[in-house]
Amino acid sequence: MPEYQHHWKDGTPVHLPLGKIVCIGRNYAEHARELNNPVPDEPLLFIKPSTSAVYITRPLDFPRDRGEVHFETELAVLIGRPLTNASASEAENAILGYGLALDLTLRDVQSRLKDKGQPWERAKAFDGACPLSPFVGKDRLPRDRIHFTLDIDGQRQQSGDTHDMLNPIVPLIAFMSSQFTLLPGDVVLTGTPKGVGPLVSGQTLSLELENALFVETTVV
Ligand code: ZN
Repeated sequence: MPEYQHHWKDGTPVHLPLGKIVCIGRNYAEHARELNNPVPDEPLLFIKPSTSAVYITRPLDFPRDRGEVHFETELAVLIGRPLTNASASEAENAILGYGLALDLTLRDVQSRLKDKGQPWERAKAFDGACPLSPFVGKDRLPRDRIHFTLDIDGQRQQSGDTHDMLNPIVPLIAFMSSQFTLLPGDVVLTGTPKGVGPLVSGQTLSLELENALFVETTVV
């Protein structure tokens, strides 16, 4: 497996190591509802390891013997400065760029783990569980409101808008940094909007971030 390395959209490498990917579950109310989950009263955080990261443009591959694998399209934030107990302005200043990610989830495994009250790592942290796009500098995107979409085989499947997040990006990063130190090169995934579903062999996924980034990939 080729080692994942962050890149900018123009192909130049980002010279920061990927340490960890810190994620939030149920950050969009309509997505919580579609899976019959309550909206959490505090952020539901989990971590995907660096070994889960792969280039999103490579054909998507995943375990085939553990039930359904769901796509979750998420806005990814590249962290550029160390953050521990960060203020909102420190969190904002630490944002280096934005990209798109798929928080791939073994949904049947996750349901079993949830029923037993067990951690989600086996459903969320497998090799290949975090396809990541190249990043664009934060100045390339609107400051207050970011929109992104997923089309599968030409049909709109997910549409996300940062206005609909229960925990907006900057306070979310500040909160995460009160629980785990974030380091330069870490990535924050900001949750998925509604419309998640199973990956099926042969599908083509097209992801777009404003007018700044467009990536396409297929399912093995
Ligand atoms: Zn997710």
